[in-house]
Amino acid sequence: MGHAAGQRRRAARRPAGTGGVSGARFCRACGAALETLPLAGRLRLVCAAGCGHVEWNNPLPVVAALVERDGRIVLARNAAWAEGTFGLISGFLEAGESPEDAVAREVAEELGLVAEAVALIGVYPFERRNEVIIAYHVVAAGEIVLNEELAEVRLIDPEKLRAWDFGTGLAVRDWLARQASARG
Ligand SMILES: [Zn+2]
Repeated sequence: MGHAAGQRRRAARRPAGTGGVSGARFCRACGAALETLPLAGRLRLVCAAGCGHVEWNNPLPVVAALVERDGRIVLARNAAWAEGTFGLISGFLEAGESPEDAVAREVAEELGLVAEAVALIGVYPFERRNEVIIAYHVVAAGEIVLNEELAEVRLIDPEKLRAWDFGTGLAVRDWLARQASARG
């Protein structure tokens, strides 16, 4: 089990100069160098020319979908991932888009499926990628048509689904635990 799906496009769509801890090298306001200074409780990259710009490096929200179609869970392998590596459908929100709409859109774009029910599983920090994952259980219908981001999908019976211990895997873990307790 692997990384959150959609990683390649997400990386490509991430605005230049934001993101990971290493972050930007130049001030996005004036182009001067950045320097590391203590500010508001931790070390931050601050404009060395004194224009006042700070790279706050706030985590980006990402939506992820545990897609259920005809009672089975859809796991996807990103085209950039190794054989045997599967994850959830995920992506960034567009400006002005609700998380629920964003996750339904990602499911439509990447799998060609129509989301019929969208229910929050939980919210999970993903420090390594400086993201916060908002994970949903998405019941979806239609015929699966992969877009160019995905190499293949697997349809897995929920009883055979296994969580992984980072990123979107934590949402899988919580969803499976709830399924188990609902069965009693
Ligand atoms: Zn500056």
